Amino acid sequence: MWMPNCVICKQAVERWLPDPGREAYSPVLRVLDVVGADADRHLCPACGCDDRERHAWLYLSRSGLLEQATGAAALHLGPEPHLRRRLAELPFQWTFPSVDAEVDDVLEGFEDGCFHLILCDRVLATVPDLRASVRALVRCLGDDGWLVTQTEYSPMLKHTLEFNVTPTEKAARLFFGGERCRRLLGSDLPAVVAGGGATGLAYAHERVLPGIDAAQWGCNPREPFFLFSRSRCPTFPS
Ligand SMILES: [Zn+2]
Repeated sequence: MWMPNCVICKQAVERWLPDPGREAYSPVLRVLDVVGADADRHLCPACGCDDRERHAWLYLSRSGLLEQATGAAALHLGPEPHLRRRLAELPFQWTFPSVDAEVDDVLEGFEDGCFHLILCDRVLATVPDLRASVRALVRCLGDDGWLVTQTEYSPMLKHTLEFNVTPTEKAARLFFGGERCRRLLGSDLPAVVAGGGATGLAYAHERVLPGIDAAQWGCNPREPFFLFSRSRCPTFPS
């Protein structure tokens, strides 16, 4: 019999803990079938990481991206704390800036094409200008590099849901799932990133992580791998 296994703190645990905030999830997000965290298999009882951090690590490590990037310059924008500590063990030249403003302001001092790997998870829902942020990310991405943009999204939405005005905190929680959010991403995210100059897809869990059991490894199998490049197509499994 297998036990749950945390890829962040690298140990078996008795069980995953539910999200203590699950009762406050917006009913709108449920209606729109939003794909994001797994409310049941959420927290690791040992290290406190959440399922989206574990899933991001699984996607990055099992896809072969991390081996390809050994020694290279890598950027983890708005880093998730537990994933950051795990990534910092790897032999990359890491930069871990927080994102309190526009992504293009944060990236202003970086040269074109200077990063081989850019992780920008849970950021694109909160930035003031989505397309400007995507352009800034792609500008800093090397020609043969990889951009990862893990984000909550609704596959039911043809287009990303945004208001004409800055939403109130109440509206942002109701429609977008958090008071700092400015939009709910839809199935057009790959098209938005393509508009910024990188191509890619929302790759399904089964395609990138065949045989990885979501209950054992504590992740949401509906959450895809949002992976983009200026020039490359990934091959799975690696
Ligand atoms: Zn853990």
